[in-house]
Amino acid sequence: MDEFEIRRSRMVTEQIQHRGITDTAVLEAMRAVPRHFFVPHELRENAYSDCPLPIGSGQTISQPYIVAYMTSLLNLKGDEKVLEVGTGSGYQAAILSLLAHQVHTTELIPQLSARSAETLRDLGYDNVIVHQSDGSLGWKPCAPYDAILVTASAPKVPAPLLEQLTPEGRLVLPVGGRGMQWIELWQQENGKWLPEEMLPVAFVPLRGAHGWQSWED
Ligand code: SAM
Repeated sequence: MDEFEIRRSRMVTEQIQHRGITDTAVLEAMRAVPRHFFVPHELRENAYSDCPLPIGSGQTISQPYIVAYMTSLLNLKGDEKVLEVGTGSGYQAAILSLLAHQVHTTELIPQLSARSAETLRDLGYDNVIVHQSDGSLGWKPCAPYDAILVTASAPKVPAPLLEQLTPEGRLVLPVGGRGMQWIELWQQENGKWLPEEMLPVAFVPLRGAHGWQSWED
């Protein structure tokens, strides 16, 4: 094991398992993906710390526990088509790629979109397709999705995302105002989409047509 593998293994045990995540496939994926390649070079030493890190353009790669927690809420079995909104570094997309059949991921900021696509390609995550677009509108050409994960916080659930899910699909996203939001899990019950509030979090804002026009709104 190299030093980063040792840190990754410790990250999974201490930050993720100890906080109650038991899904073995999610734990395996978190153990497998080399997070240090998704953070800026000067932050590699901190890649396995229990916190989010800056990735440029005012954005962040989420805390490892939050990545594992949101991923486990999707309950993936391996044959799904998944949409991620907010590619950022590409790290969450890499985790999803090990747990699903195909991953579409959209990023609003061109520089992040280009860099994450390069990282994912270089590391061989071939079932991830990166789109540079406003993901608050979903990604209609490849809908419907079995699961959608949003990694930026919305003022309320974007209607196009619910419309682009299969009836059995799951949507996981942070919803709320400045400073604090709740991770919500949306599923259909008797043909109606219903949310469940899961965990308080603090995410960067979702921009775009169904996101925040200004963080002060
Ligand atoms: N999942 C990312 C990772 O693994 O590194 C972290 C995502 S970061 C917390 C949130 C990302 O959402 C930022 O890169 C931001 O530019 C992006 N974002 C915000 N609004 C967006 C939108 N409407 N469509 C697509 N991406 C958006």
